[in-house]
Amino acid sequence: MKNITFKEKINLSNYTTIKVGGFAEYFSKPNNADEFINLINWARLNNQRCRIIGAGSNLLINNIFLKGLTICTKKMHSIKIESHSGIVVAEAGVMLPTMSNILAKKGLQGGEWTVGIPGTVGGAICMNAGSKKLSLANNLLSVRVIDTKTLKISEIEKKDINFQYRFSPFQQNNLMILSAKMQFEPKGNIEQLLETTKKNLKQKTDTQPYHLPSFGSVFKNPTNNYAGKLIEELGLKGFKIGDAEISTMHGNFIVNNSSANSKDILDLITVIQQKVLQKKGIFLEPEVRMIGFDYP
Ligand SMILES: Cc1cc2nc3c(=O)[nH]c(=O)nc-3n(C[C@H](O)[C@H](O)[C@H](O)COP(=O)(O)OP(=O)(O)OC[C@H]3O[C@@H](n4cnc5c(N)ncnc54)[C@H](O)[C@@H]3O)c2cc1C
Repeated sequence: MKNITFKEKINLSNYTTIKVGGFAEYFSKPNNADEFINLINWARLNNQRCRIIGAGSNLLINNIFLKGLTICTKKMHSIKIESHSGIVVAEAGVMLPTMSNILAKKGLQGGEWTVGIPGTVGGAICMNAGSKKLSLANNLLSVRVIDTKTLKISEIEKKDINFQYRFSPFQQNNLMILSAKMQFEPKGNIEQLLETTKKNLKQKTDTQPYHLPSFGSVFKNPTNNYAGKLIEELGLKGFKIGDAEISTMHGNFIVNNSSANSKDILDLITVIQQKVLQKKGIFLEPEVRMIGFDYP
């Protein structure tokens, strides 16, 4: 089969923002959709389990040997922009901060808030990433996907995707996102857009621990409440297990001070859940996706 290149026994801690992870049996970073499709085909023919990661910014990967093929989309980063209509077609691996800056420079409005999210377009759609009332799903028109079981490629319109708070069906089905078609507001004031984008990034770095490895918010916010506030109220900021610490800057972040492993982090997640449940009667559901655990 042509265009198949992968490496073996790759340490995935280099591919997650929290700098924790196990070893992938096979690992590949395709350059484009064709190479991606060939890899899925190879995995199917060879009966190999296939998992996909983007920038690994919402992932806790167990420190174990992960059988099968792990595909990272970060090299699939082509982006086409029609300035007059505001239509943008981005491959799954386009980074949101890159896209946000490009949109502002082209005078397209609506992506300024994404600048502080260190994930890919594919990962953001799968996670339904957002900020306050905004989410990338708002700008989505359709996604091009491949079914890893049948190899069928199709285009799914936004109206047929059941997005919920930090949830999309891509967290449960066999579909992997190759690219996304989005629409942003054309003819915006470029100077203002660049200014807002810069301000949004500053606001994030001023209030969240961007200087340390993390995976963003650990828990989803419960209805009418904030996970970070509940954790802070229990005095848990700064609580550590091994090198994993509840950030002193933001209660809903766990940071890796240097050599935390997946067990330290999972144990810390469990302690937070137990304490918040005992003291506040609220179960905190993780937002972060877990790979290689028996976590429900
Ligand atoms: C400092 C920091 C700040 C953050 N701030 C925010 C925030 O404000 N709002 C927010 O919502 N999130 C935030 N996050 C979390 C994270 O950045 C987002 O969830 C992001 O969208 C994840 O994208 P990713 O490419 O890193 O996905 P990954 O972490 O690599 O993967 C996440 C999930 O998406 C799946 N996936 C990845 N690519 C594809 C694809 N092409 N097709 C199908 N499934 C795919 C993976 O299998 C996995 O289940 C933050 C994270 C950090 C570290």
